[in-house]
Amino acid sequence: MNSTSNLTRPPASRLKECSEPSVWLEFSPLANKLQAINLGQGFPDWDPPQFVKDAYIKAVEKDGSHKYARSSGQMSLVQELSQRYSESLGIQLSCSSDVIVTNGASGAIFLSLMSFVNPGDEVVVIEPAFDLYYGAITMAGGVVRGVALKSLEDQVVDANCLTLDVEELKEALNEKTKILILNNPHNPTGKVLSCDELNAIAEVVRDYENCIVLSDEVYEHLVYDDESHVPFASLPKMFDRTISIYSASKTFSVTGWKVGWAIGPEALIRPLQISQQWSVFSVATPLQEAVSEALQRADESYQGEESYYTWLKLYYETKRDVLYSVLKEFGLAPVNAKGSFFITCNLGTLFTQEKVSFPSSLRDMIEAEPISVDQNTRTYSDYNCCRHLALDGGLVSIPMSAFYYGDTRIQQAKNNLARFAFCKSTAVLEQSRTGFEKIIE
Ligand code: PMP
Repeated sequence: MNSTSNLTRPPASRLKECSEPSVWLEFSPLANKLQAINLGQGFPDWDPPQFVKDAYIKAVEKDGSHKYARSSGQMSLVQELSQRYSESLGIQLSCSSDVIVTNGASGAIFLSLMSFVNPGDEVVVIEPAFDLYYGAITMAGGVVRGVALKSLEDQVVDANCLTLDVEELKEALNEKTKILILNNPHNPTGKVLSCDELNAIAEVVRDYENCIVLSDEVYEHLVYDDESHVPFASLPKMFDRTISIYSASKTFSVTGWKVGWAIGPEALIRPLQISQQWSVFSVATPLQEAVSEALQRADESYQGEESYYTWLKLYYETKRDVLYSVLKEFGLAPVNAKGSFFITCNLGTLFTQEKVSFPSSLRDMIEAEPISVDQNTRTYSDYNCCRHLALDGGLVSIPMSAFYYGDTRIQQAKNNLARFAFCKSTAVLEQSRTGFEKIIE
């Protein structure tokens, strides 16, 4: 094969808007290369609980579980899911038409956008937002319309001090809006939307008959203190227009399994089933069997707690408290999380102006190693704070502007905010202190 010709093939134009490498392609390889304390990407750094591993082994040993699964999901899992979400959404779900198992929540997001967005359609995103949305929207030919979460108070003590201005949401929605993406509990801020906030959003959406809500609830079980999770689709009249998205990744600490699911009415789920059938076709059979079993076991008492879910929440709360106190100790104005597993803070005070330029040591490193840098970000102040913290402090976090789009992204970069993940062992979270010490010494 002539290898030189491969380099000149232009990809399809749908990739044009999202061809720069994502933040993960820079900071995850950088963490590995530097053997850094990695509070960047949101994957638990521990193994799943034994009952989840046992479920996997059982699934692998079960006769017949190594063939292609049913395209919309292995029946054992689909039945389990339809029973559970019938309860939490307060509506009787049909196994065949209202549920689809996907390749992670990411798969469900991609299928949803591909199935409903025509070129030129608008998709409203509450910013900051999980960056995968932006890539998937642009690949579908959609136009991103951002509405920012804001703080009404001077001091943002916790993520629930951030609010969504309903008037701004009203202004963002119009006849061209095909989808509103909600993410609750929220990545990257750790905010949990209250019932009142969700109802206010529902009120706005009701005026737009054509607008579908994609409600990404992958952190449904990770809510802290007195917060509780309210599924958007459980609000009056919202089930019929909502695709609710969930995942086993966070709940069972199995990000590598990539098993997610979407729930909704037939009119919204059927197009996803068609798209899945004509793309990846199905999800790994033994993993689906294992998730079905794990869901059943998770309701039982666990480690002295009423259920695995009760234990999980307490487990994460302790970790959140450790990370919060480290960030506070260094005066980084952390915004405490009420849900998900991220805390955002301000790195600006750690660096003098000249230090926040693109680090020359990284330039040398990129030449030697496969670390990909989005060229636009070379001048972004928050990216460069995170780069210096990684290179000089051995501590990896994610710059907040990665969670914004377009011009807002450029504006945000100046704020020097960063996201730290606390889905890491307590020892690693404690160790993060050394990263900041190295910077300030
Ligand atoms: N949605 C959000 C908000 C996330 O944070 C993530 C993972 N970072 C996903 C979806 C993707 O989940 P999965 O691993 O199931 O693809």
